[in-house]
Amino acid sequence: MIIVPLGVASATPTATRHLSSVALWREGDIHLFDCGENAQMRMLQAGLKRSKIENIFISHFDVDHYSGLIGLLSTLQLQRRDKPLHIAGPKGIKKFVDWNLKFANVDLNFDIRYTEVDEGFESERVVDEDEYYVEARPLNHTKFCIGYRFQEKDKPGKVDAEKAEKMGITEDAQFKALKAGEDVEVEDGTVVKSYEIVGHPRPGDSFAYITDTKYCPNSVKLAMNTNILYHEATFSESLADKAAETGHSTSIDAARVANEAQTKLLVISHFSARYTNPFVLLREARAKFFPAWLATELRPIYTDPAQEKGIVKQKVYIKEIDESKSQGSRSGGRGRGSDDNKKRFRKRRSSSSGSSSSRGRSSDRPRRPRRDDNQERRKRRSDSNSSGRDSNKDYNNSGSSRPPKHITPRTPFDDFDRF
Ligand SMILES: [Zn+2]
Repeated sequence: MIIVPLGVASATPTATRHLSSVALWREGDIHLFDCGENAQMRMLQAGLKRSKIENIFISHFDVDHYSGLIGLLSTLQLQRRDKPLHIAGPKGIKKFVDWNLKFANVDLNFDIRYTEVDEGFESERVVDEDEYYVEARPLNHTKFCIGYRFQEKDKPGKVDAEKAEKMGITEDAQFKALKAGEDVEVEDGTVVKSYEIVGHPRPGDSFAYITDTKYCPNSVKLAMNTNILYHEATFSESLADKAAETGHSTSIDAARVANEAQTKLLVISHFSARYTNPFVLLREARAKFFPAWLATELRPIYTDPAQEKGIVKQKVYIKEIDESKSQGSRSGGRGRGSDDNKKRFRKRRSSSSGSSSSRGRSSDRPRRPRRDDNQERRKRRSDSNSSGRDSNKDYNNSGSSRPPKHITPRTPFDDFDRF
């Protein structure tokens, strides 16, 4: 099972974050949890085929959680999809999709099967297949909101083939029966018990998707013993009153659910746009629960890294993964060689030394900076902050290839508080 966050923003997208959506890859199929604007683009960039979507689960009707649905369905139609699609969500999701398709005069090539749940339900299996099921439970938000748990059913234990052969098991049908837990009688009349050949059943992997809710017992039930708990952490603890008012969780709430549910990995997401640096939230969550990670768009999370590494390969460069590699992978995309990288690196150094004479001197010194050298630099920085900025300006204008700084535009906080 591989989890790929497609959007980790709450309410409004920022320059680097998209609206809520998570893809779950399992055995070649994709299950989408929420479908914010841009979800289909992010799937493309993540290297996930939209034609492989089996199920779409919508948590609630805040626009940021389902605004990408119609666009995605339209793309599936244009791709001439013919296998049916299943959409689960709050009551009204069928009406919404039907109305939109009718309005646009679209006659779908494929069938959509809906599972709608209404307020007041306690828990429901919205999907129940041979190998997995998906359980839904209501959460505690300002409006009706559903949390989901994707659970693989237990897999049969491993068959000890050598031992089976010694005991006289040869036919496929016999192996099948043993795997199904039945005892088999071999030619000489001895009965081979299933437990002698088949090991313990292996527990299936599980994933809980809990977003847009205050702390509530249903979150814990959904997340109980999961491999991955994907929980919202819209606010930090300092804005706990805002979280309570808007029906959201703080990073501490997310860690509380993870602790009570004994999940193996907590992944926090759905960050308010006011956190240009979500590590503030991660630090808080980690203080209460470990391991905890930040959901990073397009960065896959594996339940079994040994088996699944490399299956999902994103097609675009992810800034968050390694800032230091940015130069290399960007130029790699343009098809430049490593020699060229070196040249560009030298050019940067020389242009910086040209812009400030004091830095030029430092190039004569040995590469490894000595302690007093560092101190001197620090002093220089504090002495002339403004001149430092000026030299930066020169640096950018001199045509050097320094990547632009990523800045999330700030807007008045009140805009975010409605959701
Ligand atoms: Zn939301």
